[in-house]
Amino acid sequence: MNVVVQKYGGSSVATPERIKNVAQRIKKKVDEGYKVVVVVSAMGKTTDNLIKLAKEISPRPDSRELDMLLATGEQVSAALLSMALKDLGVKAKSLNAFQVKIKTTPHHTSARIVDIDDSVIRENLKDYDVLVVTGFQGVNEHGDLTTLGRGGSDTSAVALAAKLRVPCEIYSDVDGIYTCDPRVHPRAKKLAYITYDEALELTALGAKVLHSRSVEIAKKYGIPIYCASSFTEEEGTMVVERLPEWLEEPVVTGATISHGQIKVSISFLPKDVKYITAIFEEVGKRALNVDMISLVPSNGKVFLSFTILEDHKEDLDEALKEALRDVEGWKSTYEGGFAKLSIVGVGMRTSPGVAARFFEALERAGVTPELVTTSEIKISCLVPEEKAEEALKSVIEEFEL
Ligand code: ASP
Ligand code: MG
Repeated sequence: MNVVVQKYGGSSVATPERIKNVAQRIKKKVDEGYKVVVVVSAMGKTTDNLIKLAKEISPRPDSRELDMLLATGEQVSAALLSMALKDLGVKAKSLNAFQVKIKTTPHHTSARIVDIDDSVIRENLKDYDVLVVTGFQGVNEHGDLTTLGRGGSDTSAVALAAKLRVPCEIYSDVDGIYTCDPRVHPRAKKLAYITYDEALELTALGAKVLHSRSVEIAKKYGIPIYCASSFTEEEGTMVVERLPEWLEEPVVTGATISHGQIKVSISFLPKDVKYITAIFEEVGKRALNVDMISLVPSNGKVFLSFTILEDHKEDLDEALKEALRDVEGWKSTYEGGFAKLSIVGVGMRTSPGVAARFFEALERAGVTPELVTTSEIKISCLVPEEKAEEALKSVIEEFEL
């Protein structure tokens, strides 16, 4: 039995016409002899609108109830797509996270998939050619609905593919992964291949190509991901472990910006690592994403700074108060209006001088970075929001992206 997982994003199922178009594409795959497990996102801006609606009821909506609300979006598109398929004569059926038994961690709005009981899918594939599964949602150990974080249906799709040990195709309104955001930079180049490591860095750094957890899972289980458009027949991008031999490795594969960053500085911490541990434990409990951590000891005290996303400010405040409740004299400040600009490429491992070229490009744009972090295959820096696009343009020119 030839099985493939296909995921269709929100814009691919935004209207009844588009849903019917997606049904046609799926039918084609079935006619080629495949059984298809389809994962869908909510229609168009549904999730955004549901969040807005929740905020009209409550300024900080209860997260369990928010998940209950958000999970409805995917159920709508799964049911509609299944109807469209049935009208085309395809043996199809929709299933939600409860039915598929997608188990997640307890964290509402940012849960992680821990296991999927593939027996439900396998059983159903005996009788059906297409199973349409709701993306983005899972069920935690309390039997409550959870969601996987914005863009999380990519992760639902790859997790299903990993469990079934089949390839995964991800369709959206962009026909592949580009060197930089093609909507902002029209001369961006489409990549035929990108490695898991690069895709992981790019997505973690704010490029909206794939949900980063989906790439982690793909890498762990060696599942190739094919990213393409649901609107065209254009060749897309393969996400793989290693670039093919014949392909010349670029020094820098992609550049991206993550907006809405806050720089957090915590000063006058006692010089004892236990307080640092306590801070990151509390941060972890709340599943907050901190990045660009820098730690400077001075005069017997420690000064810690890092970045978080604007939306996480209140939760972080709570985390710090909890972690440092026994400490006196510490101070925290939050500075908003930053963006994180990053370049990524496995080619950096073997090409010296990348950092120098990166900072020269920033200098030409008249930008001085506030914080810098690097890994073997990336350089990130924190820059003022209003200078970010200009800085990115200069970087794109420098590395011919
Ligand atoms: N509908 C969800 C969102 O908008 C999940 C997804 O699209 O992947 O974030
Ligand atoms: Mg998405």
